[in-house]
Amino acid sequence: MKKTILTGIRPTGRIHLGHYFGATKNWVELQNDYNSFFEIADVQALTDNFDNPTKVRENVREIAIDLLSIGINPEKSTIFIQSMIPEIAELTVYYSNLVTMSRLYRNPTIKTEIAQKKAIFGNNGESVTYGFVGYPVSQAADITAFKGELIPVGEDQLPLIEQCREIVRKFNSIYGETLKEPEAYLSKTTRIKGLDGNEKMGKSLGNAIYLRDNEEVITKKIMGAVTDPNKIKKDDPAEPSKCMVYYYHNLINSKEKDLICEECKKGLRGCVQCKKELIKNMLDFLSPIQEKAKYYEEHLDEVDNILIKGTKKAQEIAKETMKDVKKAIKIDYYN
Ligand code: ATP
Ligand code: MG
Repeated sequence: MKKTILTGIRPTGRIHLGHYFGATKNWVELQNDYNSFFEIADVQALTDNFDNPTKVRENVREIAIDLLSIGINPEKSTIFIQSMIPEIAELTVYYSNLVTMSRLYRNPTIKTEIAQKKAIFGNNGESVTYGFVGYPVSQAADITAFKGELIPVGEDQLPLIEQCREIVRKFNSIYGETLKEPEAYLSKTTRIKGLDGNEKMGKSLGNAIYLRDNEEVITKKIMGAVTDPNKIKKDDPAEPSKCMVYYYHNLINSKEKDLICEECKKGLRGCVQCKKELIKNMLDFLSPIQEKAKYYEEHLDEVDNILIKGTKKAQEIAKETMKDVKKAIKIDYYN
């Protein structure tokens, strides 16, 4: 029996290279070895985008197109929409009794995210909502609803899995062995940096290359990418490790990347030439993904049917879990 993996992405924007190399590329490989569930986490996206439902709504389909275009195969994997599984919300209510407020506030992932989202939550997190602080509880519901065993995450998300494990243990110890305790499946990739040299390529940071960016946009972005600030003239030697252009040559495995590195160090290559080569390599790299995306953009019915079918399958499993949970909590009336 294949183990079950569950992981998700928030529909707050299209997929960029950070998501791709940091997470979703792995999913494409994992789907061959695991019973795979990929959640489009619209409910979670609303926790900090509750005032922008249009953005969330529009990006559900965009994310589905991106996932299909990178090679998530709906015959092998289940792609579903979180809000269409009401059992997740229901489980969240019951699990919320098993978590203390102080434990939620101490969660390192939550702490970091509150600090990062000053614009929404205030300088000292004074405007943080109950829904946002509680999203790890909702994530425990996501995981357990589908009996997720392995949860692919980055290092920064490990505290969320730990929180889920605690909820599961507490649930089982009070109500009897019912839920499966998941394990984190740590992704090997580190954070992907942004065009501006920021440690994180992020949607809100304006430093991302999206999988479906067109030639014009990619050209503009790469021409503006940060290079070694000590290189002033075309033939000054430079340090590739300080250059985002080299960083992306390396990331997408440009054929000439070793030569590029050597030439850069020796002052044998100008930044403009190097950027032009990166633009070409980037477009080549993205072209198979973009071709598939074009197909799905022209066949939106197909995308919708994949989402409907996946969600239906997910609903069935969540219903089973809900039955077990209600029985354990003794609220299974008149069945
Ligand atoms: P948001 O600002 O809405 O939280 P996000 O860019 O963080 O957007 P998520 O949907 O929260 O996107 O993350 C999806 C997955 O992609 C997560 O596993 C996350 O860790 C990973 N990820 C996002 N950005 C990067 C990055 N720059 N490098 C590596 N992994 C990333
Ligand atoms: Mg995020």
